[in-house]
Amino acid sequence: MSRAEAEKIPIDDVDRLAQIVDRLRTKSLRITSTRRALLSALVGSKRHMSASDLAAAVQAAQPDVHLSTVYRSLEILEQAGLVDHVHLGHGRAIYHLSDELHQHLVCESCGTVIEVPDEDLSNLASTLDRRYGFAIRPHHFAVLGRCAECR
Ligand SMILES: [Zn+2]
Ligand SMILES: [Zn+2]
Ligand SMILES: [Zn+2]
Repeated sequence: MSRAEAEKIPIDDVDRLAQIVDRLRTKSLRITSTRRALLSALVGSKRHMSASDLAAAVQAAQPDVHLSTVYRSLEILEQAGLVDHVHLGHGRAIYHLSDELHQHLVCESCGTVIEVPDEDLSNLASTLDRRYGFAIRPHHFAVLGRCAECR
């Protein structure tokens, strides 16, 4: 990363990016510029990003990179457990860093997305575990419904 680029990122994000890049190293994965750019886009994202949003962010920083390289890198980061995808509804999956996973409530009427901690689903998780021996993975799909405004 060039110095000019580094200066645009808030200091907390720089630390966080360094920590995540370290995890690539501990998994013996090469730190390619594309992988770094993807992680940087995820660390800096203030909104939910689809694979094509992420590809656009990487290509803005590295115009020569091939789309196939970006998607392959995203796949590798996901297989390595650094990144996870979530389905918010009928649309495309969005991506999160694995260290910031949470549950999503999506309003079917206005599309608002509310992020809630896993603990809010702990009653459901323990009921399903007790009754069916089923362990839910709450992050993979959003819970759909109606928000307070739309009810
Ligand atoms: Zn709503
Ligand atoms: Zn989210
Ligand atoms: Zn999926």
